[in-house]
Amino acid sequence: MSSSVLPEYLCTPHHYINGEAVTGTGEIQVLDPATAQVLTTTPRGTAADIDTAVAAAHTSFTSGVWSKLSGRERSRVLYRISELMRQRTSELAEVESYDVGKPISLANAVDVNNAADTYEYAASLAQHLDGAVRSTPLPAHAFTQREPLGVVAAITPFNFPLILSSSKIAVALAAGNSIVHKPAEDTPLSALYMARLLQEAGVPDGVYNVVTGYGSELGDHLSTHPNVNKVAFTGSSKIGAHVAGKAGQALRPITAELGGNAPNIIFDDADLAQAIQTTISAFVFNTGQFCMGGPRLLVQRGVYEQVLEALAAGVPHVPFGDPRKPETVIGPLATQAQHDKVVAAVDEAKAAGARVLTGGESADINGGFFYHPTVLADVENSADCVQEEIFGPVLTVQPFDTEQEAIALANSTDYGLAAGIQTENMSRAHRVADALEAGIVWVNSWALLDPSMPFGGVKSSGWGRENGPEQLHEYTRTKSVIIALKPAEQDQA
Ligand code: NAD
Repeated sequence: MSSSVLPEYLCTPHHYINGEAVTGTGEIQVLDPATAQVLTTTPRGTAADIDTAVAAAHTSFTSGVWSKLSGRERSRVLYRISELMRQRTSELAEVESYDVGKPISLANAVDVNNAADTYEYAASLAQHLDGAVRSTPLPAHAFTQREPLGVVAAITPFNFPLILSSSKIAVALAAGNSIVHKPAEDTPLSALYMARLLQEAGVPDGVYNVVTGYGSELGDHLSTHPNVNKVAFTGSSKIGAHVAGKAGQALRPITAELGGNAPNIIFDDADLAQAIQTTISAFVFNTGQFCMGGPRLLVQRGVYEQVLEALAAGVPHVPFGDPRKPETVIGPLATQAQHDKVVAAVDEAKAAGARVLTGGESADINGGFFYHPTVLADVENSADCVQEEIFGPVLTVQPFDTEQEAIALANSTDYGLAAGIQTENMSRAHRVADALEAGIVWVNSWALLDPSMPFGGVKSSGWGRENGPEQLHEYTRTKSVIIALKPAEQDQA
């Protein structure tokens, strides 16, 4: 694959610091996952690059060039960002599709749209950075105001680079912060694209900076940097725990959006045709590399065999292959490492006695990182393929008898990011939604997401929330101002 599919400036390796493309040292190859060919390279960032980027962000913050604008002024720029993204949808979707191996239709319809919606929503939040007047017994006018935190270190994963960067950057900007962004080493291209777009929309130089490189080499330095005031991390629970430890020692607040392994429960009163369609899209969405995907299916015993038959018949017909074909739903895994992780997890499950209903092996397509969508039945709840996040197009299926058993199985992993319930009984839907340990619960649907609805984890799936007005609190702090008032007899005026 030639790199001509990418905008010219993305073919030139660089960081993006203080409004400029900055040449770095070292080199990381960015591969097209559909062919394993090199698309381009980016610099292998160093601690010195992080220092330069943090200095630029800090200077921009203290200068007030963005932080001291009114919320309405920042709002106008955020709206402009969303407009420019919509105007450039096809180019941005192509960058994301080549970088991550995403089916182009998904990148167009979901990634760019959702990210543009996020900027649009953040534009409205920027106009609601309100404090409150408190009625106190003090002889004083007492009120609170919200202030930006300063420099935000954003560290993002490989699977939804544009969406998960936008969900941090848009609100961080709305609140008036400056940012240093370290995108995933494998999928950094949309961050570099967006750096130009943000500048064009009117984000001042130094407010948004991108340093490319390995998290293992840059992460500690970035998340404990003296001039970083907050860490916004999305990634695996293992790395998240490490970053949270470092940030905690440095007394930096952190939001941590971490791994998921969501249960999807089909009760025997569900609309089965819809439930099966939902189940398939929940586990193949983004080729299974979706923290809120539904890789753990729990089926009530009365409809268990019927559901297995429908999955075995339906899954092989989901369009699979070249992500550039508009009809493709399942593309390659994003990296060789992710592909190999899926191979190892399924092989181990097979060795432990799992029944492969469909899939269970790699697909030889153009040398890319393809793995057939796979359904595994007869798995033990204690098996690694059930308890651990696989992060590929793999579904495990387990039967249950009662509502209580379904809840117990659903809550039996360390994760708690998302969950789904398929039932026509709305009393049951409420009861079970209440009992599930998850940050977001879908009933008779999956992945209905909107920037106004918060998401985030419980248990090992993380801390804090992204999206919704709740997120403003993650990127601002409250200051109380108490102005003493003199009684009339002491007031000279
Ligand atoms: P990862 O944890 O390997 O990497 C995430 C980011 O952390 C990358 O930018 C990486 O370079 C960086 N990093 C690596 N080591 C670091 C260190 N020592 N210090 C600081 N940063 C470091 O995750 P991944 O493989 O890129 O993404 C997949 C994981 O992310 C899955 O577990 C998935 O569930 C999770 N995820 C969670 C959400 C959510 O919203 N909860 C969303 C998407 C992905």
